[in-house]
Amino acid sequence: MIDEKFLREAKQALLKEKKTTQAQIEKCEEEERNILTGDYEKGDRLNPLAVNRQNHRSLKEELQDIEAALVRIEDGSYNICPDCHQNIDKARLRRGKYYVKRDAACQQSWEKTHPRKYWS
Ligand SMILES: [Zn+2]
Repeated sequence: MIDEKFLREAKQALLKEKKTTQAQIEKCEEEERNILTGDYEKGDRLNPLAVNRQNHRSLKEELQDIEAALVRIEDGSYNICPDCHQNIDKARLRRGKYYVKRDAACQQSWEKTHPRKYWS
């Protein structure tokens, strides 16, 4: 069973990360407006926009993962792997910025079937 102290630690870290991510999303959106209204040569304009949208998408996904982790803290399923129902160890949760969902083995097989560019 996971202890209250660790849950508090996780929640605090997640809330902090959520703030940071939201700020980054706002910055990203501002950047997009700058790119769209800026004096970019036609040829240069597409690239920064595409890169920025890619970042934006990753940040949104990260935010969703953070929010989902916060929900799991509330409903008591925080450190339980949804695939094998084993506990995920604290070291892994810490390393995964507290919003990893699966243990290492399940994450690996999940990634094989769900390729995503920003998985580390
Ligand atoms: Zn698992």
